[in-house]
Amino acid sequence: MLTAARPSWDCVACGQTWPCDPAREELRSDMDLVELAIYMWDRLDEAVSDLSPNPPAELFERFLKWTR
Ligand SMILES: [Zn+2]
Repeated sequence: MLTAARPSWDCVACGQTWPCDPAREELRSDMDLVELAIYMWDRLDEAVSDLSPNPPAELFERFLKWTR
């Protein structure tokens, strides 16, 4: 599974910001849309605490927008 390295939230496989394109494809094929949204909400929550006190404003878009 293509996961994120914490606390940087870069992909462990390719080093791009997670979820990279292959990670998104993998997640989409592993889960239905509801499961995926819940999973990504949880990851977003973790990322916000890892990247605090200044989490990037685009995190919501990065983690959730592509799931819809
Ligand atoms: Zn990757």
